[in-house]
Formats: sequence, structure tokens, C-alpha cells
Amino acid sequence: MVFDPLYMLMMLPGMLIAGWAQAKIASAYREGSRYRASSGATGAQAAAAIMRAEGIENVPIEPVAGQLTDHYDPSKKVLRLSETNYEYNTLAAVGVAAHEAGHALQDAHHYPLMTVRNLIVPLASFGSNFAIMALVVGMMARSMWFIWLGIILFSTTVVFQLVNLPVEFDASRRARKELQRTGLISPEEDRVVGKVLNAAAMTYVAATLTSIFQLLYFFLRARGSSSGRRDDYV
Ligand SMILES: [Zn+2]
Repeated sequence: MVFDPLYMLMMLPGMLIAGWAQAKIASAYREGSRYRASSGATGAQAAAAIMRAEGIENVPIEPVAGQLTDHYDPSKKVLRLSETNYEYNTLAAVGVAAHEAGHALQDAHHYPLMTVRNLIVPLASFGSNFAIMALVVGMMARSMWFIWLGIILFSTTVVFQLVNLPVEFDASRRARKELQRTGLISPEEDRVVGKVLNAAAMTYVAATLTSIFQLLYFFLRARGSSSGRRDDYV
């Protein structure tokens, strides 16, 4: 299947955009790491200030190992920042930390799409774990039942990614608004922060596009197989 020219062709747009997005985030993060925020706030301080300004007092902020491992955990109500973003006071660190605080804000204010996203998470992680397995079994056993099951399971991941996109854009929008409102960054600094956050969002767009094309490929192949060209599948 990997050597199927159709597969290669359909994966190409996603791969190109993913490569472009990776290069963009690397350069934006590098630029953002060169400048210190004029307020002097570290990532952890910026996230705390944003949450405090919105009346959120009960979300602890913890440093976590690894690079760009930053995330907000809605089930435990904890904001985790990679060590660099936790302790540095660069515009990149402050921007990423503020984005994660944006997720805490969404949670506290019951942003509808985040609620939907959290509901889909268990289904999507089940789907992503078993989709490929079902597809492989379906191809080996020539079972259309398993192939369609694999496609349905895979589509839960795509639905998750589609719901996740506006959630990510909204978190960045809230982050930039709050950073300026609380005086943590100036309008000129917002330009740099915006570049970092937009580039990060692009990596999500690329991943979503890749999944959509992958799903489309599975769908086209399954339709080809069920209309009698079974040998074509492998
Ligand atoms: Zn995010």
C-alpha cells in the first residue's frame, strides 16, 4: 500500500504543507526566542497573570520535561509548560505559555467547541489505536467489513482534528488579547508573538489535511475494492 502511486500522490499536499509549517514554526520560534518580553515576565508568570485576570485561581502551573511539550490538561485542570517556556522570559516562551492559558480560559468559560473536543477525545484515541489494525486485518483477510470498520475508526481522528482546529485558533486569539490587555507585551511585541502562534497553528492545519487525504485514500480504495476490483487493493 505504501508504494501505491495514488497514496503517494494524495499524501503529497499534506507532506509539503507539514514541511513548510515545520520550517515556519522553527524560524518563528527562533525569532521569538531572541527577544525578551519588555515586562520581564517568564512564561509561567505570564500564564498565571492571564488566568488571574480572568478569575481562575485553582489551575496549578507545572514545568514538564521535553521540547514543546506544553499543554493544558482539562481533566486534571493543570497547565504544564516545557521547562524552557516555564522559566524563560522571551516572547516565544510568553506566547506559548499564554496560548496554553488560553485553553484554561476556554475551559473555565465553557467554550462550546472545547467541550465537544473533550467529549470526542476518548473516541478519537480509541479510533486512532485500532483503525490501522482493522485496515490491515481487512486487507489481509480481504474483508470489506474490517476495511469499512477501519475507515469509520479512522474518521473519528479526522473529526477530532477538525473540531480541534478552531479550538487552537481561539486559544491563540485569547492569548494575544490577554497579553496586551494585561500589559505583558506591547503591540510591537504582539507582532512577534503572533508569528509564533500562527506558525504553531499551521502545524495543526497540516496534520489535519494529511489525515483528510489519508481518509479519502482509504475511502477510494475501499470503494474500488467493493466494486469488484478486489485484487487492486493490495
Ligand atoms: Zn493549543
